[in-house]
Amino acid sequence: MVDDLKPCPFCGKDDQIVMQNVDPETSDGVYIGCGRCGFSFNVRSADQARDDWNQRVLESSLEYRLGEAQYELTAAQEEIYCLKEEIHYLKYEKDDPQNA
Ligand SMILES: [Zn+2]
Repeated sequence: MVDDLKPCPFCGKDDQIVMQNVDPETSDGVYIGCGRCGFSFNVRSADQARDDWNQRVLESSLEYRLGEAQYELTAAQEEIYCLKEEIHYLKYEKDDPQNA
């Protein structure tokens, strides 16, 4: 594993992350990628590769947490809807006991 790099944002592994110069002669451009899942990209410098990689990890983590929050929000909205229906039903029943 390359130093200072977080685990792959897609497969979560950190044992096959590769960072290398695209053209060793000129050191022009850096490839960074995960040998397990194939996620990779090229950037200008090693520092940028490290920053972008770790940024992508952070973004993936936030996207995952956002997805979880949206799921929980939907579940809560459905529960609110059901409770409102129950309240409506109970009021209706109370106002006119013959409807019970
Ligand atoms: Zn991976």
